[in-house]
Amino acid sequence: MSKSLSKPNKYSRRKRTFASAQPVRFLPAEQPSLFRDPGNHPRIIPRPEHCISRKDIDREALKVLYRLKDNGYTAYLVGGSVRDLLLGRRPKDFDVGTNARPEELKRLFRHSRIIGRRFRLVHVYSRSGNIIEVSTFRCRSDHDNGKYESEGVRHIHGFGSPQEDAFRRDLTINGLFYNIADFSIIDYVGGMTDLKQGIVRFIGNDPEHRCLKDPVRMMRAARHAARTGFTIEANTWQSMLRHSDRIRLCAISRVRDEWLKDLRSGYSRPWAELMLKCGLFASVFSGYISAFESKDNWLVQKLLFGLLGHLDRMVNSGVEVSEAFMLALFAYPGLSITPDWKVLEVDRLKWPTQEVKSLLGRVLTPHDFRRSVRDVAAQILASQWNIPVCLAKGNWPKRVWNKPTFRESIMFYDLVHEVLGQPVLGSDPHLRSGTKTLKKSGRRNRRFFTTSRLIS
Ligand code: ATP
Ligand code: MG
Repeated sequence: MSKSLSKPNKYSRRKRTFASAQPVRFLPAEQPSLFRDPGNHPRIIPRPEHCISRKDIDREALKVLYRLKDNGYTAYLVGGSVRDLLLGRRPKDFDVGTNARPEELKRLFRHSRIIGRRFRLVHVYSRSGNIIEVSTFRCRSDHDNGKYESEGVRHIHGFGSPQEDAFRRDLTINGLFYNIADFSIIDYVGGMTDLKQGIVRFIGNDPEHRCLKDPVRMMRAARHAARTGFTIEANTWQSMLRHSDRIRLCAISRVRDEWLKDLRSGYSRPWAELMLKCGLFASVFSGYISAFESKDNWLVQKLLFGLLGHLDRMVNSGVEVSEAFMLALFAYPGLSITPDWKVLEVDRLKWPTQEVKSLLGRVLTPHDFRRSVRDVAAQILASQWNIPVCLAKGNWPKRVWNKPTFRESIMFYDLVHEVLGQPVLGSDPHLRSGTKTLKKSGRRNRRFFTTSRLIS
């Protein structure tokens, strides 16, 4: 994989400055023996040597950082926001790390709420309705199990030092801190060098251990490699290859949430390619295995990568794609080559929605979705047989175009045909043929390809 250019935005116009290879100043290492890495002092990258400006940071997050600092607490911007700012991208969210305890945070921020059961963190609500997630430095991830009881009160709560908090994270590029006190970046984990060199790497010296402690980190490695175009470091990659089946030990809801993030990321195609290469795809989507083992494997891959490529284009151009549409796109390649799917084909207007729903369940197994989402996805898929029937007859009866999923079904049909190199409809065939006069409201609802909302 080569390092790809990030999406252009207002940040990317700015000159990017990464720190020089030499550390500028050291902080004393905190409890280094915990990480069996006694020499690991953080590298401090002062403001002139990196590109993060306060102008790029969300105003509400800045306010939170300053309020903490002014009250004597340590306050860092943490996680993905630091990574994205250094890459010249607009972060999705701005998370704050601090040494203030949840109760202290609650007292400090009037409009806030303590959330979380295993590890309590605080949501600070801003006037604009944004939520800034503020968490006390932790000694380990929620998902790293350990003998909490024997490690003293501090560890019962899972609180830790900034260094521990950096080491409990997943990837080196996600373990950087931006310090509001002096605008420097604090790097305990080697993230700055990896960002500069375009490398995705598990934190620490033992990638096997990191995978086994929380297998979801493998999916996160694939995600960030796909999003950034970075190379996955050899030891990290080997451990992913060896332990991809361990992902089945994770809670299904966690895995599904990570997967849905990837579908919405705008980089779902490179993500799917990586997931297939490292074996995670087969472990996460066991319903897909038979499709990949069939003689039509080439067609499944062509459809999957082609459709996800279209999904990425839609997401990146700001089209809001419904969850049902995404699921239909994702499931179709695995479904369409099965004999059970082919026998459903009809030559008259009929919607075998129930049958499609049960086939859809099989492909998406073991992941479950809201009933309404499954219903809409099944309707979009079941409509695919009706479109050729209408095309052949040159007639679009009301019961076809009156379906709430009509627009999405047509778009779905076009995407599949484009991937297969077959003729597409290109616009709403019902409006184009003018076979029926629509009511005014109907006409407005049926504007096709001009709207940026695709929610049914
Ligand atoms: P995104 O742009 O998708 O929000 P992100 O890196 O911010 O990317 P989040 O899910 O918001 O991802 O997580 C915030 C941070 O929490 C991450 O940057 C990472 O440091 C840490 N994190 C998340 N999941 C894990 C995990 N399973 N193990 C260790 N650290 C994790
Ligand atoms: Mg985030």
